[in-house]
Amino acid sequence: MKPNIKDLSRGELEGWLGRRKEPHYRAAQIRQWLFQKGALSFAEMSNLSGALRSALAEDYSVSRLTTVRRSSSRDGTVKFLFGLADGLSIESVLIPEGRRLTLCISTQAGCGFGCAFCATALLGLKRSLAASEIVDQVLEANRSLAAGERITHVVLMGMGEPLANYDQTVGALRILSDADWGIGISSRRITLSTVGLVPQMKKLMEETQANLAISLHATTDELRSRLMPVNRKYPLAELMECCRSLPLPKRKRITFEYVVLKGVNHSAEDARRLSGLLSGIRAKINLIPFNPHPGSRYQRPAPQEILEFQNALRARGHQVNVREPRGEDIQAACGQLQGEHQGKDENGRRNSLNDLNGSRGSSSLSC
Ligand code: SAH
Repeated sequence: MKPNIKDLSRGELEGWLGRRKEPHYRAAQIRQWLFQKGALSFAEMSNLSGALRSALAEDYSVSRLTTVRRSSSRDGTVKFLFGLADGLSIESVLIPEGRRLTLCISTQAGCGFGCAFCATALLGLKRSLAASEIVDQVLEANRSLAAGERITHVVLMGMGEPLANYDQTVGALRILSDADWGIGISSRRITLSTVGLVPQMKKLMEETQANLAISLHATTDELRSRLMPVNRKYPLAELMECCRSLPLPKRKRITFEYVVLKGVNHSAEDARRLSGLLSGIRAKINLIPFNPHPGSRYQRPAPQEILEFQNALRARGHQVNVREPRGEDIQAACGQLQGEHQGKDENGRRNSLNDLNGSRGSSSLSC
């Protein structure tokens, strides 16, 4: 396999061009073909000489994800199951909302963080994605759009933990946001969601302008460690202290995601503690009604219960939204992405999710 040209840094590409006595600006031209015009071959790059196109094709390949399956929901949400070159698969979800067209993308195949309520966790970590594989999800989803449509927002909330794949994720963010040679989606419209890896959160805020969302989900260390094992490494006090000290640009807020699990984490006491944890942080809270998936032991609270929790937080002066579940009929909602047919149940036994949910050949399941 030839190396994928999309994984070359600008310096590497310029170095290669320099050795062929080609000017540096060719690097921008090549990247515009790849990331702005979605070129699938060097032959298409009509502003380069034939000799240069042949030399590029001799040394490099141009990657493309295969679309293994595309499922459309009644509510307009589209879920893609994309195949990677090594046979693994990942999921991305396209979510139309008024004028917005948001793509939720994956940063790892599977996930190693083992959150108790998440379907992707059942897979374990297969591997981290290359920057090109992260970006290719946007390019491939774009190809499926009607003329005139374009992806306006990107959320790194699909399969995997973006900050556990830090360098490739930041590389992908650069390509996504650069307006000169990249895809040109402004950082203001890109949100990265993390389980709360403290050292990488700081680094990310220093190195990029992406919006930060943190999966909180509990208000005591005891419960958070049960739901999210990562809490044993970065407990609540350390996580919140980090949030307080982040170099947050003016007018920006940190989003705190909170999956609401029936009877587990939405009491009046939880509202009081959550409010206390967020004191001194410019925050907004996103309540995510739990999305059930095969093998999960949790339930979604009734709408009234979620509303009560929302009101209790609002009464304490917080900005609180309830995320509307999207694409539930195609298992495309948060926490439902799985990207392959086999999963493990909560006791770690291998089982087929197709058997569990009775659907044939449907991938299911984590946003
Ligand atoms: N690893 C990152 C991003 C992926 S998950 C993170 O954890 O933040 C994106 C969001 O969906 C997280 O807040 C996650 O906790 C939430 N989620 C996972 N499973 C869910 C489920 N079954 N129902 C609702 N939200 C879920």
